[in-house]
Amino acid sequence: MWKEWALAFVDLLFPPFCPLCRARLDEGRRDPLCGPCWDGLERLSPPYCRTCGRPFPAFDPGRPVEGSPCEPCRRRRPPFGYARAAAVFGERVREAVHALKFDGKTALARPLGDLLAEAGAATLAVGTVDCLVPVPLHPSREAARGFNQSVLLANRVGRRWGVPVEPRALRRRRPTLPQTDLDAERRRANVRGAFTLSRPAAVEGRHVLLIDDVFTTGATVAECARVLLAAGARAVGVLTLARVP
Ligand SMILES: [Zn+2]
Ligand SMILES: [Zn+2]
Repeated sequence: MWKEWALAFVDLLFPPFCPLCRARLDEGRRDPLCGPCWDGLERLSPPYCRTCGRPFPAFDPGRPVEGSPCEPCRRRRPPFGYARAAAVFGERVREAVHALKFDGKTALARPLGDLLAEAGAATLAVGTVDCLVPVPLHPSREAARGFNQSVLLANRVGRRWGVPVEPRALRRRRPTLPQTDLDAERRRANVRGAFTLSRPAAVEGRHVLLIDDVFTTGATVAECARVLLAAGARAVGVLTLARVP
């Protein structure tokens, strides 16, 4: 009760505004997001590739049967068992991720982590996951930013699911180029050997769920999965906030 009063009082002194659209928070708010921005996050729904989570166009007559792997997954099976995303990397999600990562709006990890937790609970056998491992940043990048957005998201999901988070299980041992301007082959080369395991005991024999903000070609999570499996993880899946279709 006092918490509600305290919140109402703080709202009165400092009217809360949505970091995306600057509207005043009102009905349907998911602090710090306003109701319309929360509702407008481009949630992903089936059909998608059962392996990598790539969304299939809903009315494409030539598309594979629902639940079957997509063409790239058939050609080259990714090292992770499955990948799922909560949303497509649409305009609103892109803006939210940008504000979280580059404007330091870390409070956004709350609603975005909730979105991740809810999407994961709807599509994954959450009860079989032993631990969450966020994709690490290179220590110099994390120091410059002050946080790792994947750790913030994983912490939120872990709390909601009651699953432990292992933020230091993986380590990025060398800085990598931003993946944005690289093609698929260069992306793989860019991250090859970039990760190492600092706590093998944390993943050995366990079902590990990797957590990251955006899945583009999957090169980064594939390399992380390779390292985790080599260290004896029983199964490795991937859950990202967004996916580039
Ligand atoms: Zn808004
Ligand atoms: Zn696929």
